[in-house]
Amino acid sequence: MNGEIWILASLEKGSMAEETYGLVAEAWRLRGAGGADRITVLVPGGLPGEELPNLGSCGVDRVLILEGPGFAQYDGEFWARKLSALTRDRAPYLILMAHNALTEDLGPRWAASLEAGFLSRACDLWPDPGGLVTGLRAIANGHLFEEVEFLAGSPFLVSFLPSILTAVEKGAKRLPEIESITAGGPAESGRVNLLEVIAADPESAALEDAEIIVSGGRGVGSGAAFQVVWDLARALGGSVAGTRPVIDWQTLPFERQIGQTGKTVTPRLLIACGLSGANEFTAGMEKSQQVIAINTDPRARIFQFADLGVVGDVHVILPRLAERIEKEKHGGQDT
Ligand SMILES: Cc1cc2nc3c(=O)[nH]c(=O)nc-3n(C[C@H](O)[C@H](O)[C@H](O)COP(=O)(O)OP(=O)(O)OC[C@H]3O[C@@H](n4cnc5c(N)ncnc54)[C@H](O)[C@@H]3O)c2cc1C
Repeated sequence: MNGEIWILASLEKGSMAEETYGLVAEAWRLRGAGGADRITVLVPGGLPGEELPNLGSCGVDRVLILEGPGFAQYDGEFWARKLSALTRDRAPYLILMAHNALTEDLGPRWAASLEAGFLSRACDLWPDPGGLVTGLRAIANGHLFEEVEFLAGSPFLVSFLPSILTAVEKGAKRLPEIESITAGGPAESGRVNLLEVIAADPESAALEDAEIIVSGGRGVGSGAAFQVVWDLARALGGSVAGTRPVIDWQTLPFERQIGQTGKTVTPRLLIACGLSGANEFTAGMEKSQQVIAINTDPRARIFQFADLGVVGDVHVILPRLAERIEKEKHGGQDT
């Protein structure tokens, strides 16, 4: 059999999360390295049939569905044990996953039981001529990057920052090869029981992990005036951030500051509200995938960084936007 690149699928409410397709794009880029010319997606817990042609049209060769009660919900010990046995058996070259709470736990367990290396939060990866792999990741709050080289041979386990993953180009619909593996239940696992999964409140989640950020500046105002930013973030399921004046007013704590002396963020969407886009602020957000800027001044520097610019007053626009989003979420009915 030819070498394979494996992708651990991320599922959201039973559907394939967009980041899985981003990993397919990375796998295509790395295809051929170490002789690995097949892409296999591992799907724990089953997959709706309509996703299969989508995976096929992205160039996925095979989908490996991991079935059985033990894969119905995450169990670190059990998943790591089963996945490492499968890895030993099939010897893939590279194993890619998206960085999230699940892989932060699973990745090190999976790698340790294989005595393999694990590179987390990668933002780039390239094969070495000698058949090994080197990756790049941000450290020191994004101010520095480090190159990390795997010293031992495959498999190489790597988690990618979701925000750097871009959509894969789709071709004609086709069905990938499908294989199902049924494993026993988590009763086999033993030492730890998962009692409950408690979702983090997105408004207060760490900015570095946020997919959506609503950031306010001096133009929003301090204290109660800032509520419009919180309301929009809540409607979008996003996190709240601010520029330095907002932190200086103590409207937000320091860990919510974006910029040169604050956090470096890479969300899928950043909404910049009533902020000018000073150098020291944009240094911390210029790698955001999509930026929407709202400012009364059409010459504001932030518009140079925006995919969509709205000239207007945040106190008029944000409440309307939040209201409209809430309405859409409730099927067009007033809340
Ligand atoms: C060494 C150093 C480090 C720094 N580090 C950081 C940092 O990490 N992060 C950071 O953010 N700053 C940092 N700063 C400060 C930075 O230089 C800017 O002063 C700051 O980013 C400006 O914040 P602002 O955009 O909110 O305010 P302003 O520059 O005052 O901009 C306010 C904007 O709001 C608009 N506006 C006003 N009213 C409305 C309204 N009703 N609706 C819509 N728009 C409106 C205005 O047109 C204006 O563009 C640093 C400065 C120094 C010297």
